Amino acid sequence: MRDWLDRAPDPLTARKLRVLWDSMALAQVNSVPEIYTLQNRIMDRIVAFRPVVFGREVSHSERNRILRQETDRALRREAWVSIAPLSMEVAGDTVELIERRNDLARRAGYADYVDLSLSLASLSRPEVISIINHTEEASAAPYRAFLAEAAGAAGLESVEPWDLGYLVEKATAVPTAPFPKDRIVPVLEDFVSSFGRDPRELGIRIVFHDIPYGGLCVPIDPPSDVRVLTNPQDGHNYYHVLFHEYGHCLHAVYAGENSQILQDEPGVFCEGMAELWGWFTFDPEWLRGFGLDDDLVQRVTRAHSVQMMAGHRTLAANVTWEYRAYENPRQDLTNLHAAREARYLLCQPRPVHRWAGGPFPAGYPVYWQNYVLADLIAAATHRALRERFDGAVLGNPEVFRTLVAEYWRPGASRTWREKLAGLTGRDLDPAALVYRWGPNQDT
Ligand SMILES: [Zn+2]
Repeated sequence: MRDWLDRAPDPLTARKLRVLWDSMALAQVNSVPEIYTLQNRIMDRIVAFRPVVFGREVSHSERNRILRQETDRALRREAWVSIAPLSMEVAGDTVELIERRNDLARRAGYADYVDLSLSLASLSRPEVISIINHTEEASAAPYRAFLAEAAGAAGLESVEPWDLGYLVEKATAVPTAPFPKDRIVPVLEDFVSSFGRDPRELGIRIVFHDIPYGGLCVPIDPPSDVRVLTNPQDGHNYYHVLFHEYGHCLHAVYAGENSQILQDEPGVFCEGMAELWGWFTFDPEWLRGFGLDDDLVQRVTRAHSVQMMAGHRTLAANVTWEYRAYENPRQDLTNLHAAREARYLLCQPRPVHRWAGGPFPAGYPVYWQNYVLADLIAAATHRALRERFDGAVLGNPEVFRTLVAEYWRPGASRTWREKLAGLTGRDLDPAALVYRWGPNQDT
């Protein structure tokens, strides 16, 4: 394969060789039995773990509810630290997993596993770090303003890490009545129809099922059979989640017309395609057409901005923690994590052992940055579509045709960065992300 990588006579064959080559490089780490057995062993314990809060075992959704909505601060702190026993239990195995991934990545010719993962997604560590730094700077002033106002309103003198989810929730709460769960599918189908497409002819099925996520896209046999499993409740965030998953499905359906090898694309672009569709639920025009008054429209768009700045800063802490952990897995990862959180979230540093107590370090390595970049892709694409179609984006069949032709249908026959540059006219551009706080900055 290496001999033929640069010698294949036609561009499509050359591209297929490159994609196959890259997927084999990744398989040299991820598909090695010593890696996936260790990874599965850690994930089994993470899945089986039940947090205990004040002596009571709680579900993960109940723990999340406490962190987001509980007014009793001591209870929030207990929920926040409740994953410490799990984190301590799997920490040793997780460090070993990190070291083994690094070893195998180096044997495959990369500096370490982060380098391998990012290279195969057409990214680099300096580039991601520079985008992270940009989002930190761009969100600094509005985030400080949000934090000061929210903490003041809640009567908190200093912000602890267990206050953040709660403060964000309070600032972003939107009434659930306009977003009932029984309207969620008709609203989505009407939206697809408005672009001149019959949703029943798309090979996408929405299936209600009691799953622990808001939604999940399952490409069973694209392009004819792609399903979204969803478990919606009332509320705008469930509309956002379903639109996000539907974005994954649209991408899978159209990319599914390619040969198998060109159907999969790097996670960063897949999340970008999902969030591109998810962003429509924050579009003021969509919200007004949906029957919301100006006050409510502003609350939803402001909620989006607060969720993004708090979300991206949380991700920044995790991304920079993870890259440093791969640089030196034997350092004090608990202190490192607390310092990263304090820096990006502007909260008190609390070195509680939590870093291994979630699914990402073991199960979804080097994935966190994709959620920041997905918003960047969504923002840049929405901006480009507005420019290209003079603001007439919603319900414009040309917009749908553009997304099919330039993003979804080509699959991996072109790199995702070529596709992004083709549609937006620019390479990945952190300036596309704008953060706002306050009612009078809505221009
Ligand atoms: Zn997604």
